[in-house]
Amino acid sequence: MAEQQAQRRSSAVFKRLIERSEQSAYIEIPFTMPEHVEEVYVRYEVEPHGVEDSKAVIDLGIRDAARVRGWSGGARKEFRIGLIKATPGYLPGPLAPGEWAVLHNAYKVPEEGCTVKVEIDYAHKTPRWLKGDLHTHSIHSDGTYSLQENAAIMESLGCDFIAMTDHNTISQNVAYPRETSILMIPGTEFTTNFGHSNFLGAIDPMDDFRVTDLSDVREIFRVARERGAKIVLNHPHCDYCPWEWDFGLDYDGVEIWNGPWTDRNGRALAWWQEQLAAGNHVVAVGGSDVHRPDRYVKHAMPCVWVWAEEKTVQGVLGGVERGHVVITYAPDGPFAQMSCGDYGIGDTVPSGQSSREVAVQLEGLLAGDVIRFYSERGMEQEISAVSDGELRLTISGEDRLFIRTEIWRYFEQADRMLMAALTNPIYFNASM
Ligand SMILES: [Zn+2]
Ligand SMILES: [Zn+2]
Repeated sequence: MAEQQAQRRSSAVFKRLIERSEQSAYIEIPFTMPEHVEEVYVRYEVEPHGVEDSKAVIDLGIRDAARVRGWSGGARKEFRIGLIKATPGYLPGPLAPGEWAVLHNAYKVPEEGCTVKVEIDYAHKTPRWLKGDLHTHSIHSDGTYSLQENAAIMESLGCDFIAMTDHNTISQNVAYPRETSILMIPGTEFTTNFGHSNFLGAIDPMDDFRVTDLSDVREIFRVARERGAKIVLNHPHCDYCPWEWDFGLDYDGVEIWNGPWTDRNGRALAWWQEQLAAGNHVVAVGGSDVHRPDRYVKHAMPCVWVWAEEKTVQGVLGGVERGHVVITYAPDGPFAQMSCGDYGIGDTVPSGQSSREVAVQLEGLLAGDVIRFYSERGMEQEISAVSDGELRLTISGEDRLFIRTEIWRYFEQADRMLMAALTNPIYFNASM
């Protein structure tokens, strides 16, 4: 599956002999932090020399060029520092390339000395598909899940990120749990009587949600953007709370897939196709809008996959902004990958590139799945998967504005074909 795209890793090993005369001294093991590291992992072993029962007590910590970044004394044999999370006792944050050092306190050194072996692993920033849910609720508005429960469920699903977009509040954004591998994307659902939209990536995008007219909405959008939010129009063709404000506002994406695939999603899809055909590069995203345990509405259904430079809020939302997004009905749903030369989903193939052949790689198919390709002319091609597994094919984007892929599947529960996966388009500038 696409998520197996491995993160690039490298490592370094250092050995340092510590003499008895160094007892009580602070020792540095210098190393160079490479560029573009997303997480550093350090572990150490101490081997005492001399007689069998001689003991060494060597403490552990680390510094960057500016300051001590963490200290665990004799309490830990290993630690991690990432951009967002770190082992307790250590400070997460940027991993600036350059001069760093592992720190030791030679608290107790045997008569014959000892050897410290330090191993450092670097996880490099590697563009890869990260998956999660951009639209969920919690007890901070009308949901029943605590923030910890939401995070734990996403963890159990093997997801990477979650946005808890509670209605017109931000208290969830300042209470995010830290002891989870799930990246928390700050979010709030700007909820009005004439439509909902998600503000993603800003902890505090608005001071007051109460609006009475379009100019109020425009102003709230402007401020939210100024505070760093990406804006998604939610369930725009919903029967109960459609988007009735202007579609001409400044936003980053549209949630064309909200919860289980239903007619309202179908209407949003048709609207999106019209926008694309008119030459508007509108980014399609999805979200479960889960509030509470439910038979149909569940976390990461649909699941949003983002080709991200790094597992950070900026990494994920940067990928969303560029349209590097695929939506699947569930975290283990079928996946469609498209490329044209060096360009991928969401990219625009420039006029200078002569090849317009789009390579399509389909994964996780079930026999009977129906794959459809669309351009501004409508459906270009439809094929059925004859067996489970993968399928590779090419489709021409010659003289087209874009090509995008849909995978449809028969779901017994619904007794009909439903959307199982959907890509954003590859766009083409007119060839010369
Ligand atoms: Zn809503
Ligand atoms: Zn919602």
